[in-house]
Amino acid sequence: MDSDFIDLHVHTTASDGTMTPERIVFLAARCGLKAVAITDHDTVEGLAEALQAGEKAGIEVVPGVEIGVDYPGEMHILGYYMDHRSSRLSRDLAQLRESRDRRNPRMAAKLRELGFDITMDEVARAAGGTVVGRPHFAAVLKKKGYINSVEEAFDRYLGAGRPAYVKKDKISPAQGIEMITGAGGIPVLAHPHYLRAGGREEFEELLRALCGSGLMGIEAYYSTHSATETAYFCALAKTNGLLVTGGSDFHGANKPEIKLGRGLGGLAVGYNLLAKMKEVKKTRDAGGTRTVS
Ligand code: AMP
Ligand code: ZN
Ligand code: FE
Ligand code: FE
Repeated sequence: MDSDFIDLHVHTTASDGTMTPERIVFLAARCGLKAVAITDHDTVEGLAEALQAGEKAGIEVVPGVEIGVDYPGEMHILGYYMDHRSSRLSRDLAQLRESRDRRNPRMAAKLRELGFDITMDEVARAAGGTVVGRPHFAAVLKKKGYINSVEEAFDRYLGAGRPAYVKKDKISPAQGIEMITGAGGIPVLAHPHYLRAGGREEFEELLRALCGSGLMGIEAYYSTHSATETAYFCALAKTNGLLVTGGSDFHGANKPEIKLGRGLGGLAVGYNLLAKMKEVKKTRDAGGTRTVS
């Protein structure tokens, strides 16, 4: 069946998802999606495999990435269509991974202090790749029967402010945006819902500041956004001249309730949003000014 739906936010085994890039691309094709973006945390390592799989499966694969930046709560910047072979981008991403490597042994030590039998080796094995994150700690705790779900591990131990949490060294939002644009990519504010704690005015001011730093889009469609929120973020996109994007934040078995392309069930992201992003990318590559209508 031909559809016009897409998913622009997906994690693979290259970071903290549980399915390989190739499997995800084939799954996306089987689900009838017209395009899928791979947006792993702090790495572009899964992209070559995904792009190749896209050709075999007959589905459009969009190269992406997701990086966490320094702001109270969780601020993540998605990047699309960067030159993922750029050496500067790989160096920048390697630095972000090093900051994880400094943090992770400290979280393992804290968990041991809490009485859990857990080593960094076990966590690294659970991760399998170069990006090791909290979901991998959660997976080990779950496998050993200490907790029943990844969610429980975050609620009790790994979430911000919980006893095993250690903050990563992060770059500023402006630096994160520049990392993406510097590699020719389109920077997009991920899951803005998580940044609304301070209220409307504060969020809208923040968004204007991010636009000033070069932000080009906002992820208005997201698994856990209500219809009202999506409409609100779409309206803000319009007033700020931003692209609208959307995705599920699929992580496979690490977030079992989130389905590829469908989120919690009600997600529907139209291909028209990607078409507009590609237009903007093309205009910018040609040296023209950006206009989002
Ligand atoms: P890290 O990259 O190590 O900071 O871990 C962040 C990742 O953990 C996020 O991208 C999510 O995939 C996952 N995560 C964060 N909070 C939760 C939560 N409450 N429940 C389940 N997964 C979470
Ligand atoms: Zn993740
Ligand atoms: Fe995120
Ligand atoms: Fe994500």
